[in-house]
Amino acid sequence: MRSRIVMLGGPGAGKGTQAKRMSEAYGLPHISTGDIFRANLRQGTPLGLEAKKYMDAGGLVPDEVTCQIVADRVVQSDCANGYILDGFPRSLPQAQVFQQLLVSRGEKVDLAINVDVTDAEIVTRLSARRSCPKCGAIYNLQFSPPTKEGVCNVDAEALIQRQDDQEETIRERLRVYHETTEPIIAYYEKQGILKTVGGTNSTPDAVFVKIEAILSAAETVR
Ligand code: AMP
Ligand code: ZN
Repeated sequence: MRSRIVMLGGPGAGKGTQAKRMSEAYGLPHISTGDIFRANLRQGTPLGLEAKKYMDAGGLVPDEVTCQIVADRVVQSDCANGYILDGFPRSLPQAQVFQQLLVSRGEKVDLAINVDVTDAEIVTRLSARRSCPKCGAIYNLQFSPPTKEGVCNVDAEALIQRQDDQEETIRERLRVYHETTEPIIAYYEKQGILKTVGGTNSTPDAVFVKIEAILSAAETVR
């Protein structure tokens, strides 16, 4: 499959989970800007320390910083057949800058998949989310708990609750999502490449089935 796919949806909507599955099923690289920032933070790079200021507060890392990271990533050779962007773009300026980059390379976004989940469910899900500070693995105490309570299945590291998954920060992330990120849905809809998938009250498996149906129906991605 040859395709450039953008995953849209609020924080905790399941974009990351679905992007990972799609990446495995279709052999496309999974590019998560949040993962890139967190990996930099774990390594203590200047980028990581800069990003942390915004992430901890539930805000967005500045567009210039974020766009540069994506621009550097999508030109790498493993992205030649496409990729799945998870968590980018997150503002209209990011979407526009990215579009310019693609146009200058004779490329385009083929498909934007919006995973739609109510705010109430987002708050419930993110409050139950735990992650591994060492490898980044994500668990949900309710839906996908670790095998042994409190520790990572991969490396037995003690799980933590991300600073930005604490309730007050979740509310701020939702506010920023509605104000700054949601307008991107209309941006891709106008281009005729938007597909929305309902994610409320749905298991990751159920959402993935819907996404597979979209992908097999979309001619641009075959
Ligand atoms: P995520 O793992 O996608 O929820 O991202 C975690 C945090 O990283 C976000 O709350 C933002 O602070 C930051 N971040 C990730 N992607 C972007 C982006 N495209 N633009 C700005 N900030 C971002
Ligand atoms: Zn781990």
